[in-house]
Amino acid sequence: MSESGRAYIDGTWCGPVDGGLFEVRDPATGTVFGTVADAGPAEARAAVDAAARALPGWRGLPAPQRADKLRAVAAVLTRRADEIARTMTREQGKPLAEARAEVLSGAEHMLWAAEETRRLYGETVPASSTGSRIWLLPEPVGVVAAITPWNFPLSMVTRKVGPALAAGCTVVLKPSELTPFSALAFAEACAEAELPAGVVNIVPTTRPAELTEVFMSAPQVRKVSFTGSTRVGKLLIKASADDVKRMSVELGGHAPVLVFPDADLAKAAAGVARAKFYNAGQACTSPNRIYVHASVVEEFTELLAARTAELPVGNGLADGTRIGPLINVAAVDKVTAHVTDALDRGAKLRTGGDRPAGGAYADGSFHTPTVLAGVTDEMVVSRDETFGPLAPVLTFESDEEVLARANATSYGLAAYLWSRDLGRVIRTAEELQFGMVSVNGGTFAPPQGPFGGVKGSGYGREGGHHGVEHYLDYKYLAVELD
Ligand code: NAD
Repeated sequence: MSESGRAYIDGTWCGPVDGGLFEVRDPATGTVFGTVADAGPAEARAAVDAAARALPGWRGLPAPQRADKLRAVAAVLTRRADEIARTMTREQGKPLAEARAEVLSGAEHMLWAAEETRRLYGETVPASSTGSRIWLLPEPVGVVAAITPWNFPLSMVTRKVGPALAAGCTVVLKPSELTPFSALAFAEACAEAELPAGVVNIVPTTRPAELTEVFMSAPQVRKVSFTGSTRVGKLLIKASADDVKRMSVELGGHAPVLVFPDADLAKAAAGVARAKFYNAGQACTSPNRIYVHASVVEEFTELLAARTAELPVGNGLADGTRIGPLINVAAVDKVTAHVTDALDRGAKLRTGGDRPAGGAYADGSFHTPTVLAGVTDEMVVSRDETFGPLAPVLTFESDEEVLARANATSYGLAAYLWSRDLGRVIRTAEELQFGMVSVNGGTFAPPQGPFGGVKGSGYGREGGHHGVEHYLDYKYLAVELD
């Protein structure tokens, strides 16, 4: 059955006005999964106007009532988790269990944001004289334009919209053109939860740059929150300068994993496989360089290859699938290029390394989960984000050496370390130039954690109370009593 989607503007579902329709393909089969109204600048302007009209009412709503609305959205997402998960798997490819977990995680983010709504306290600051007072009043920044990627097409939406609404902002969201249906399912949840018209608007499009121009030039839009590639993030930061808009940018990553000789190797191999092959490696936090101490590299690589070889590849809708298709053929080509370059320069293939052909895979964009040993810093895979199911294993000799190599990247999102030596863990974690460090398998997913990076991976945090702070201004109230 083919789906059809429309933009959601001012509480109304809108058909194509100046952009016609665009197709969304199922990456497991290459067939058209659905068609969506292609929003253009006119729809983007209408969405911004609707969000601006809705702002005074939404920010003026008492916090417990805003919280109730966010909880209602979470309840709809939870109730419809199975159905939304199927939609997500059809348009994005990930295994159904991962899609369902993502919908439930999206609901968790909305619930967390609902709770934070009640805790926007402001501050009282000691003044310099008996007759004066200083208060800091939290206020929503205003209308927010949010731009999201395709790899986590629902949780990325909730990570932005949840805290923005909690702060009292209204939102115009532009989802990835590859995965608009998950975002539109979120719009349906907002409609069913009876969010006031214009509080959340969703404009799918194939012309992201044109819509961004509208957002950047609209004086009502006071904040732009972006998750996606570093290339596009830099363009948006530059474009934000003209109207001095606030920005949060969650960009690419190139995560190192440090496996020290005192690590529990079996746990480390299982943890690295989990982090690497989740979402078929299409995650900004996905391990890209797995540095293993020379004394244990052979044992570790064997364990990792064994775990990897047993991951079933297939359509995300099929029972038991652990590795679904990549988002499109270009993504598979990138993995192939990284594998080929590494093998040409002397790396050794330990498992995978190919595109499964024929049968169920005939028209989909599949790549087998792959482990390469003997990878070195000069190889392309050690510098560029692969964004696919490729685990490259490198060797190190000393703590100082591996720290320097791990930090030698323009990115700074996530790093992982495995060790049972407490002193080494703390010293290494402190020296890693990354926004998030996982120790012995810690995960970055829960809504109470402030997710985000440093250096070329961007700035801003999503999750925790820090996430809401990015949608607030503090008005400085200076009062003379007499
Ligand atoms: P992308 O930058 O191509 O697209 C992201 C979004 O930007 C999409 O909605 C797209 O339509 C839009 N876009 C594309 N060109 C644009 C332009 N010129 N102007 C305005 N908007 C534009 O990234 P992607 O391929 O969708 O996502 C993968 C990238 O996202 C990876 O680099 C990954 O590391 C990164 N990512 C980062 C995080 C994080 O939290 N740091 C999370 C997920 C993904």
